[in-house]
Amino acid sequence: PISAAKYIWQNGKLVPWEKATVHVLAHALHYGSTVFEGVRSYPTANGPIIFRLTDHTKRLFDSAKIYRIDIPYSFDDISAACKEIIVSNELNRGAYLRPFAFRGYGEIGVAPKNPPPVETVVAAFEWGAYLGAEGLENGIDVCVSSWQRLAPNTIPAMGKAAGNYLSSQLISMEAKRLGFAEGIGLSTDGTVSEGAGENLFLIRDGVIYTPAIANSILQGITRDSVVKLARVHGFEVREQAIPRELLYLADEIFLTGTAAEITPVRSVDHIQIGAGKRGPVTETLQSAFFGLFNGKTPDKWGWLESCSDR
Ligand code: PMP
Repeated sequence: PISAAKYIWQNGKLVPWEKATVHVLAHALHYGSTVFEGVRSYPTANGPIIFRLTDHTKRLFDSAKIYRIDIPYSFDDISAACKEIIVSNELNRGAYLRPFAFRGYGEIGVAPKNPPPVETVVAAFEWGAYLGAEGLENGIDVCVSSWQRLAPNTIPAMGKAAGNYLSSQLISMEAKRLGFAEGIGLSTDGTVSEGAGENLFLIRDGVIYTPAIANSILQGITRDSVVKLARVHGFEVREQAIPRELLYLADEIFLTGTAAEITPVRSVDHIQIGAGKRGPVTETLQSAFFGLFNGKTPDKWGWLESCSDR
């Protein structure tokens, strides 16, 4: 179960964790009409910061725009709610935040003339490494899924909506059933897309590759951070279509995500990647990323957003 905090911000108010409930006939529960974010806060010498909160809030509003979900709060209200939920819950050791908006309880049709009211929530709680603390260090075993990612012009991959995660559930459940830690989805053209909840990078001959936005991926904020940090470290990064077999031939592979952070991959479909453990480029990028929070990596971009300025 989730490690409960004290309060959840629900429709403008802090409510006790166990009182933050919803009607069973809410539209989102039946049709997947929730747009959401996953955000992390980290402890730093200057108190807890929320990593790239502005970019996550922007993506929440972008997802809502695609689905014509009219969030009844401003950009600044949502950002302030995220900071408030960390402070009021005294989540000073690092937390995972889940801001979301969904079509609530009203009429039950798919697209009723009077759309159900939009509810807006920000929750936060402590959550450890998504693919395991051990995985962060030693790497994980993954497989290519028999399920493909979302086809273009079906469910938009750029929107982070609850319904998209039916695809992710099929991919991740299949992988785990077969004994892997995570599954990789191909896009409908057969090229590499992304993990069930992570973007993918591979390294071959010193060049870093990651699928492009046209390859049915979520535009991950960790992905963007890694691309920028890699360029600062002098690496060439190519965003392009990646054939499946390049996975097997990579010197290193890692997955990125807010929950997964930067998780090395040591095998794909039981084929060993590189030396079968975290590779040197992955380690450099992990140190650069985690260095943002202990001050070793300069935050040139203003990514560390303090919870005290509200
Ligand atoms: N792809 C999918 C499908 C995801 O769910 C996530 C997690 N939000 C990511 C990629 C990584 O995105 P981010 O780095 O912004 O968390």
